Amino acid sequence: MSEGPFRSLNCAATVGDRPEAVAENLRRVALAAGVSPGWLLTVSQVHGDVVLRAGAGERGQVGRPLGEADGLWTDARGTAVGVRTADCLPVLLEDPVGRRVAAVHAGWRGVIADIAARAVEALKAAGSRPEDLRAVVGPCIQRCCFEVDGELPERFRAAFGEDVVVEVPGKERRHLDLPRAVLRALGRAGLDEAHVAALPQCTMCDARFFSHRRDRGLTGRHLSFITCR
Ligand SMILES: [Zn+2]
Repeated sequence: MSEGPFRSLNCAATVGDRPEAVAENLRRVALAAGVSPGWLLTVSQVHGDVVLRAGAGERGQVGRPLGEADGLWTDARGTAVGVRTADCLPVLLEDPVGRRVAAVHAGWRGVIADIAARAVEALKAAGSRPEDLRAVVGPCIQRCCFEVDGELPERFRAAFGEDVVVEVPGKERRHLDLPRAVLRALGRAGLDEAHVAALPQCTMCDARFFSHRRDRGLTGRHLSFITCR
């Protein structure tokens, strides 16, 4: 329903789009996935490392965030948890044994704050075993496009290893491989390598996606979500 820079399936009401369009987009997204629209829960994302529990009692108005956080999980059957991104990393987790799901939003700040591991800890505290968990990193800005400068490359190298920093021949600025850093963090948190994956799509160089960097801040947000069945 969205137009202009938000065309067409913008899922965020906080970026300048018409609220009615966003509400209808969210409703259609939920219904297409077989989720009752009020049962698709999100948070107000702040680039931190807080992970909230979304219980059945939180179900409510379409698109109303639970609170300020960058991750949320649920074990309430039929409830979906989602995060909004346009270049940042959406990370979805599932425990098919304990039947819990989680969604995490991570930009570089969230990656360095280890929010993916915080989500694993939250699931563990609820009874999940890391070796049962499955995780996927959705479309985000990839190493082809994520140029950085200053001290970031060194911080990432120290935290996640040599290969998350990419030197580009002939270029002074370096690139970061954020999905690789998150996969490493999930491995350290106890997930099996065979149970984690990252999609290859880059939001910045693939025109199908909203990209905060490419569109200079004026763009929509995707919703990546997972349902507890
Ligand atoms: Zn790219």
